[in-house]
Amino acid sequence: MKKLAFATIKELKEYIDKKEVSREEVLSFFVKRIKDIDPKIGSTLEVFDESSVLKNSALKGNLVGIPGLLKDNICQKDRITSCASKILENFVSPYDSTVSARLKKDGAFLIGRANCDEFAMGSSTETSAFKKTANPWNLDRVAGGSSGGSAAAVSAGLVPWALGSDTGGSVRQPAAFCGVVGLKPTYGLVSRYGLVAYASSLDQIGVISRTVEDNALVLSSIAGHDTHDSTSLSVSIKDYTQDLGKKFSDKLTIGILENEMEEGVIGDDVYKSLQDSIGVFEGLGFATKRICLPSLRYGAATYFILSRAEAASNLARYDGVRYGLRKGGNEQLKEMYRKTRHDGFGQEVKCRILVGNYVLSVGHAGEFYANAKKVQQLIRREFQEAFKDIDILMSPTQAMTAFKFGAYDDNKLQLDLCDEYTAPVNLAGMPAISIPCGFDKNKLPIGLQLIGPHLSECLLYRIAHAYEQETKWHQYRPSNS
Ligand code: GLN
Repeated sequence: MKKLAFATIKELKEYIDKKEVSREEVLSFFVKRIKDIDPKIGSTLEVFDESSVLKNSALKGNLVGIPGLLKDNICQKDRITSCASKILENFVSPYDSTVSARLKKDGAFLIGRANCDEFAMGSSTETSAFKKTANPWNLDRVAGGSSGGSAAAVSAGLVPWALGSDTGGSVRQPAAFCGVVGLKPTYGLVSRYGLVAYASSLDQIGVISRTVEDNALVLSSIAGHDTHDSTSLSVSIKDYTQDLGKKFSDKLTIGILENEMEEGVIGDDVYKSLQDSIGVFEGLGFATKRICLPSLRYGAATYFILSRAEAASNLARYDGVRYGLRKGGNEQLKEMYRKTRHDGFGQEVKCRILVGNYVLSVGHAGEFYANAKKVQQLIRREFQEAFKDIDILMSPTQAMTAFKFGAYDDNKLQLDLCDEYTAPVNLAGMPAISIPCGFDKNKLPIGLQLIGPHLSECLLYRIAHAYEQETKWHQYRPSNS
């Protein structure tokens, strides 16, 4: 049965169609694999009872019998949605998020909840209130975050796909650290209905998989307009695999983000892999052009302010009255709020709420929030201008590879710089994909990021797929799998 572990979605579908294996057997195989292997990785918070999974999934559709995990900030009806936080530890979702509903309708098996940073705030999954997620390539290292559980599980062959959420890089960064593919779609392409809000104007659900084609297959199932989300774009449902493998008739130009790829700024091995990748693209017939977008250097700082401001208002709803944990209650109402939030939220979340309220406060909002919104406009405009000249942009996903647990315990601000290459894309609302492009000297994966104009997912997939077919990085497997 070993061939199932790292099979692609297409292969699994074929095995099921040819009756080489039943959908029930596929489910049992992956549930058992998680039980056997996940104790050392820690990618899941819960694996559901098999009969309930079978009952929930349709018998017809594009993903029949294909198991996956959802990050634990995406609501699944009658399941806990904890956001890896004590405040929602026992919160059972009364409804399905749009993505869960669509996946079930397409026959996919939603087999569990993936670990993540608390309320998706972090870059290492170390802020989860429940467990740490180790990187399958080296158990002393983090899997990245905040969708670390989703990326680690896919990388270790525990599931072929998983969903994450990406507000400033949380799908792409863990995908890069774990050597898998991660797509953040255009803002509004995938419904946020049932995604627990962190920074609503930036949040997007994204797909993590081992191959570009698998990624496109899952996106095809979840993308498209949804009346439940007012920011959902009026885009109809389509097949995102449609252009894979097609020849490029025009010569396309890849813009190399020069200010993000300076030698000495990014790690030596990352720099070398990126240079090699430029060679691969040129070999495939793409033109490359170095360009500089000066405002991007303010991207992480701008993201820092806007995300905290929105987090502070979104998280005000957890007060012990309506959702999850309630502490105290016999005293004054204010005391109940205080106790609930004091005991329920972890350190990082509390810190972000404080910063968010500060940047929004009278007397400071102009200095911080209003200025950050202006810089966001500049970043957007620079991207839009750039796409008049070039077709897509390329940068590293991260300046470095997966770091050791606790590496930033004494310098949390430094950890926020992880968002440097990814957050500007959220600020501009554009789609971007991280794909494996090599390994460093410690045998840790390196990711490259391709960024496209709004709604260019088909083109991004097509180019990423061409690169993937030309290289072998997606074929390596971590030792802990
Ligand atoms: N690392 C970023 C943060 O800590 C990204 C989080 C995300 O995209 N959810 O905010």
